[in-house]
Amino acid sequence: MAEVLVYVDHVDGAVRKPTLELLTLARRVGDPVAVALGAGAEATAAVLGEHGAVKVLTADAPEFADYLVVPKVDALQAAHEAVSPVAVLVPSSTEGKEIAARLAVRIGSGIITDAVDLESGAEGPVATQSVFAASFTTKSRVSKGTPVITVKPNSAAVEAAPAAGAVEALSVSFSDQATGTKVVGRTPRESTGRPELTEAAIVVSGGRGVNGAENFSIIEELADSLGAAVGASRAAVDAGWYPHTNQVGQTGKSVSPQLYVATGISGAIQHRAGMQTSKTIVAVNKDAEAPIFDLVDYGVVGDLFEVVPQLTQEVKSR
Ligand code: FAD
Repeated sequence: MAEVLVYVDHVDGAVRKPTLELLTLARRVGDPVAVALGAGAEATAAVLGEHGAVKVLTADAPEFADYLVVPKVDALQAAHEAVSPVAVLVPSSTEGKEIAARLAVRIGSGIITDAVDLESGAEGPVATQSVFAASFTTKSRVSKGTPVITVKPNSAAVEAAPAAGAVEALSVSFSDQATGTKVVGRTPRESTGRPELTEAAIVVSGGRGVNGAENFSIIEELADSLGAAVGASRAAVDAGWYPHTNQVGQTGKSVSPQLYVATGISGAIQHRAGMQTSKTIVAVNKDAEAPIFDLVDYGVVGDLFEVVPQLTQEVKSR
């Protein structure tokens, strides 16, 4: 069977969930060959093998240590030459999308970004995307070169599928560009203990209806009771109530969780663009005519200051 390259997103050998989702999708179009780079790369092999990787190509070098993309592109290009895959799949993170775009230019291929599904087709893998602020769902295929496809987190349920997961060393020679940039300092963000917004299985978001930074604590309490990430509409972010890193929408982050809870959010097209592909959408809004109710699976017409604390209580009591 043809092979599919899967770029592994891991932290010191701990594989992040979007990569396991990629392996699940990759199996629909070929045998997944994972590419794990940097410290702990070999330690990823066991879990990657459990999720269908027939082979794990690994490389470690100081160049991979920081969030610099060119060394990783060099490595993926080397893997592409070694394997001649039918597709290269990369998680749709900020880093992943830059790696994918650079790789596509290097190997002269077309690219599809932010796919939410993948299937095999007679003429190559077919990706589903949600485009034009989520107004349309399209199916597309790359017609030039090896398809390079980035896939949004939470696009597939992770399925185990034991495979060999045999580790093989990948030989990488770095390009001049790889050494042209250096990380000169880092300022770690204070951890909230909550999942990363774009990877979270559940997101609870607050909008203008939350009516103040101090009131976001009720959104956070609901989020914590569900093990969710907290999102915010642009109106809430522009008002300074919540950080821009948590903004969901066209000019914020794009999320696709299993469950999205929108509270005090009207459902403007630019907000929908960032959350419309969520699997189940729940809204709490006191205006029964709010456009958000056009796309919800469950809607509660009510005051969020009454509904959200009750919901938190109910979740906590289970
Ligand atoms: P509003 O539209 O004011 O809605 C507030 C809602 O809260 C109302 O429906 C109201 O009924 C409800 N409410 C009020 N009080 C309560 C209560 N006590 N209980 C329950 N419900 C209550 N927006 C984004 O979100 N993300 C983006 O990335 C983004 N990018 C944009 C890019 C561009 C180029 C432009 C032009 C706009 C963008 N916007 C974006 C802004 C977008 O158009 C909307 O203005 C914004 O989403 C509105 O935020 P909101 O729903 O919180 O506020």
